[in-house]
Amino acid sequence: MSLTTRPRPRVAIVGAGPGGLVCARVLQRHGVPVTVFERDGGPDSRAQGGTLDIHEETGQAALRAAGLLDGFLALARPEGQEWRLYDRHATLVRHDRAPEGDLSRPEIDRGRLRALLLDSLAPGTVRWGRAARSVTPLPDGTARLHHEDGTAEEFDLVVGADGAWSRVRPALSGARPAYSGVTMVEVRFEDVDRRHPGIARLVGDGTMSAKAGRDSLVLQRNSDGHVRGYVVFRGPEDWHAGLDLADTGSVRTRLLARYEGWDESLLALLRDNDGDFVNRPVHVLPLPHTWPRVPGVTLLGDAAHVMPPVGTGANLALLDGADLARAVLDHPTVEAALDAYENVMLPRAHTHAQTAAHMLADLIPDPDTDAPLFPDAVWPTDAARPESARR
Ligand SMILES: Cc1cc2nc3c(=O)[nH]c(=O)nc-3n(C[C@H](O)[C@H](O)[C@H](O)COP(=O)(O)OP(=O)(O)OC[C@H]3O[C@@H](n4cnc5c(N)ncnc54)[C@H](O)[C@@H]3O)c2cc1C
Repeated sequence: MSLTTRPRPRVAIVGAGPGGLVCARVLQRHGVPVTVFERDGGPDSRAQGGTLDIHEETGQAALRAAGLLDGFLALARPEGQEWRLYDRHATLVRHDRAPEGDLSRPEIDRGRLRALLLDSLAPGTVRWGRAARSVTPLPDGTARLHHEDGTAEEFDLVVGADGAWSRVRPALSGARPAYSGVTMVEVRFEDVDRRHPGIARLVGDGTMSAKAGRDSLVLQRNSDGHVRGYVVFRGPEDWHAGLDLADTGSVRTRLLARYEGWDESLLALLRDNDGDFVNRPVHVLPLPHTWPRVPGVTLLGDAAHVMPPVGTGANLALLDGADLARAVLDHPTVEAALDAYENVMLPRAHTHAQTAAHMLADLIPDPDTDAPLFPDAVWPTDAARPESARR
């Protein structure tokens, strides 16, 4: 008998992000043996960072399927749905607050969501410090998972839930994420209400964004007085050429030059942040991203469809995870399950990725301009300058 016709397939999930964990939880709840292989050494080995708004129709639907919606709502911050838009003079041009009782898009710290999902799994389900290297589909419809340590194991289904730079994806598709033209530089503030009252006033209880041309400044309130911000601009990926990114003072000087003329209250985001600046160039997969069906292997979440971070990625990853698990439970073979799952997931991801690309273009337009992106940048040689920064 082919392994793929076993009633309870052996499933390996690569990656303990939101998508992989919700998939594991739904499978395990219904008696399917599942192992999650995660590169991180442990649940606390890396700060999970950031806040996620979890949407009723996608992320929350997935958490309901996992039996975790009540647990999520107990941790979520409905007041985090507040949204403020400023211009570069710090004039408030729009202010939205969710009505009392609105739970359509509450926020949750990414670390709290991960802990909720991890705690719902049987002990030992996640194998920490087990990075995947690659996957080989086998002629009998199963797949071999190769670990970074040189060992390998066979499963009826290997799920790539390992994010934008997936090691599983090459078994299905040659696509690789490309730079979107937009960079986010992350900043952090601790104990904001006491130590950074100006930042606390700007952000309120939720998210604030200030915009002008190709530049934007964003702040998001997390739990426990933590605020995370993003300096968002359109420009070359090597905007930091000639700088040591670990040299906070030099990075600050370059960013301040770019935001010259912005209101001082907004520039506090660049001047007063705690710790370093974290460079996060936005990479996206080309569209459309699809693949011919390969027995025993599939992808979910960012591994399948990394798209601009406009509030969709984690929600789709959760929904993919729940949908894939449901398909495995509802179909007699892994192959039938993958057909059903991919026939829904791929077109859905395509539609969302197109919308996300348009939203990014609206948020950070790309006007035809000769203005230098970083007027005070000192490039090591003229040839080293990105073309868009040449004068
Ligand atoms: C700055 C920023 C802000 C964002 N804000 C939002 C938001 O507000 N709302 C929203 O919906 N989305 C948001 N997103 C997008 C969201 O973070 C992602 O879409 C989401 O995390 C994808 O989930 P995932 O489970 O597919 O992958 P990930 O969350 O990327 O998880 C992948 C996991 O796989 C592990 N891994 C990687 N490689 C290997 C390997 N070789 N072997 C084993 N394990 C491996 C990683 O350690 C990680 O734990 C944001 C993204 C960014 C960058």
